[in-house]
Amino acid sequence: MLNIRNYINGHYCDPILGEWIENVNPATGEVYSLVARSAAPDVDLAVQAAADAFPAWSAMSAQNRSDILMAISRGIALHAEDLALAESADQGKPLSLAKKMDIPRAIDNMAFFATEILHTNTEAFQTSSQVMNYVVRKPLGVVGCISPWNLPLYLFTWKIAPALAAGNTVVAKPSELTPMTAFLFGQICADAGLPPGVLNIIQGLGAECGEAIVAHPQVTAISFTGGTTTGKHIASVAAPMLKKMSLELGGKNPTIVFDDVDVTQVAQHVARAAFTNQGEICLCGSRIFIQRNIYEKFREALIIETQRFVVGDPLLDETRLGALVNEAHMNKVLGYIDLAKEEGGKILIGGTRMHVEGRCAGGFFVAPTLIEGLDVLCRVNQEEIFGPVATLIPFDTDDEVIAMANSTAYGLAASVWTTNINRAHRTAHQLESGIVWVNTWLNRDLRTPFGGVKHSGVGREGGSEALRFFTEPKNICLQF
Ligand code: NDP
Repeated sequence: MLNIRNYINGHYCDPILGEWIENVNPATGEVYSLVARSAAPDVDLAVQAAADAFPAWSAMSAQNRSDILMAISRGIALHAEDLALAESADQGKPLSLAKKMDIPRAIDNMAFFATEILHTNTEAFQTSSQVMNYVVRKPLGVVGCISPWNLPLYLFTWKIAPALAAGNTVVAKPSELTPMTAFLFGQICADAGLPPGVLNIIQGLGAECGEAIVAHPQVTAISFTGGTTTGKHIASVAAPMLKKMSLELGGKNPTIVFDDVDVTQVAQHVARAAFTNQGEICLCGSRIFIQRNIYEKFREALIIETQRFVVGDPLLDETRLGALVNEAHMNKVLGYIDLAKEEGGKILIGGTRMHVEGRCAGGFFVAPTLIEGLDVLCRVNQEEIFGPVATLIPFDTDDEVIAMANSTAYGLAASVWTTNINRAHRTAHQLESGIVWVNTWLNRDLRTPFGGVKHSGVGREGGSEALRFFTEPKNICLQF
């Protein structure tokens, strides 16, 4: 059986305590590898390696760092096929999606920040004819990057790329549920010429090695993506140590469909926004608000689109919905479907576990599910389910839908569907959300700020925001 080991100081090593965790392929339910169960002593080694590597890496010119990051990007492209297979086996997502979305985005993340650092500048302020201020931005030192299981390599590189580009050294931890692509990534970095210690990858449980990274006194900043409860806990550990933090957390995103749209066409996009990656994307639109005079027509169109989400073996081309990440998560999602029934909801389609024949007979599949008839303030409409489950809610007026859309503790993403330009802008401005898409979904420009408001997070990633997070500005004031 394959052992997924730590990558510290430029080479792979076993966890010091010699403990391992079973890694299950969620589409088959079978254990296919063992993951290092790392603990504080492994993190100590990784932090020491990162601290030793920091002076040389941070002193390197932006062009040299850029060259290495570009080589990593090309390395991901070279191994795209293997990485996509690994991502699908670990996470349960359709192989076709990993090939089309996850791996290309990891390639782009590395290339984007490799080139971004060649085009940044700093500020200067002329205070008077005899006084000049200018700003230099310094890397922070050793930083911690902790990423979740839903888009493993995509989100892992989304943090690591800007951290390294800005001159920091990194101790990173993927989710223990999806460790494989981060494991392969270590070798890609070594092959690309990344100096030993600049990136260290620790495998294991969040509460053990994740917590040890957050609590380590030499780790100066934490970039975390994951659930809101975990984010609050991480903040409670890091804040008293006065660490810089970027927290990208959960969502309960509204999709708003006004009555002036082409129903058939928009239903396709709305279904995609609800069910892509089994609904396991923080940006998925899980509360679908539909203007009342097209409610029935839109509901029918959405049911037809939902039927097109073929659930099955992630390796097959026709599969559009793979397995949920593990059995516990599947049971959590099914629990919310039961709760919806208790709360008075009517299941329009789906609502059950699905059994797939053949090699996937033991897999954790849930049918794409649409529910109507729930109060906007009930738990199913307020809590993040993170599965292929969406609710339909009718509305009459613009003000009413904005109030309902804003009624959760979250504020990550929203999508608005209308052909009325005034309505589009007005609604977008009033939604409490880090990003609002109008007549599109998951349309990402890596230069834009990315993050959430309210309980969806603190801070922004993307473009210059990420480079700002991973550096500390210093003002130098000169009197001539
Ligand atoms: P978790 O919060 O459970 O875990 C995220 C990461 O944190 C994992 O690597 C986890 O390790 C680690 N972790 C857990 N506990 C600790 C701890 N005490 N100290 C340090 N690290 C810890 O999230 P999930 O992996 O379940 O991911 C799903 C969540 O992520 C959803 O809520 C989703 O909305 C959110 N998300 C947000 C995004 C955004 O950009 N805003 C994007 C994608 C997802 P381990 O898995 O080993 O426990």
